[in-house]
Amino acid sequence: MSMLRNICYWLWGLLFPPCCEVCGEPIDLTKRGMCLNCRLNMPLTYYWLRADNPTRQHIEDHVRVEQASSYILFTESSPWRTLIHRFKYGGKWRLGYDIGKMYGMSLAESALYRDVECVVPIPLHYRKRLHRGYNQSQYIADGIAESMGIEVVADAIRRVRNNPSQALSRAQDRWDNVEGIFKLTKPDKLRNRHILLVDDVLTTGATLVSCIAAIREALPDCRISVATLAVSDKIIRR
Ligand SMILES: [Zn+2]
Repeated sequence: MSMLRNICYWLWGLLFPPCCEVCGEPIDLTKRGMCLNCRLNMPLTYYWLRADNPTRQHIEDHVRVEQASSYILFTESSPWRTLIHRFKYGGKWRLGYDIGKMYGMSLAESALYRDVECVVPIPLHYRKRLHRGYNQSQYIADGIAESMGIEVVADAIRRVRNNPSQALSRAQDRWDNVEGIFKLTKPDKLRNRHILLVDDVLTTGATLVSCIAAIREALPDCRISVATLAVSDKIIRR
C-alpha cells in the first residue's frame, strides 16, 4: 500500500511538478512550498528581538500590549506578498503552518516572549470561514504553538459580526467597521494569562486592535502580546 502511494505521489509530481510559491522555480517534492534559496533569503524583520519596533509602535498608537512583532516584511510588489495571498485565499494553508513553525522557533529563543502561556488565533466570522474553508490564522497559531511548546486556545473568542469590506476608502470608516466585532465566549480560558494573539498580516491593524480591546474589556488582568506573520512596509513609512 505504501509502495503504491509512493508511486502515485511520484507520478503526480511528474505530471504536475511542484514550484516554489515565492520565485516559481521547480522544487523537489520533499521541499514543501518554498525552495532553499527563498527560505534562506526570507525578508525577516527580527522584530521579535526588539521590544521597540514598528509593529509594536503601530499597535500601541491605539492600544497597549506587552510585546508585538512580525516575522516577514513585504512591499506592494514583493513575491512574498503573493505567497501570503496564496496562503490566505488560495488553499495553501500548509505554508502558514510551516512558516508559523519557523516563527515559533524564533519567538521561543527571544527573552521577550519567554512567559507567554498560550497562543490565540484571531477568529474569522463563521460565514467567512465556511466560504474560505479554513481560518488562516489558526494554522499560523498551530505552527507557532508547536515550536514554543505551549497550547492553542481557539474557542475563547468569537467574531460576532462579519466585516465584509476592509477596502473602505476612508481610514476612519475602516476603524468604525470593526468596532465591537469580537466577543469573549469562554473568558475563563484566558483569565490572568499572558496570551499571544496571532494574525496573518498587519496592514491597518484595525481588526487586531478591535480584538485586543474586546479582551481588555472582559479581562483587564490579561496580558496580551501580538505576533503577525507578515507586516506591510506601509506602516513603517508613516
Ligand atoms: Zn524560491
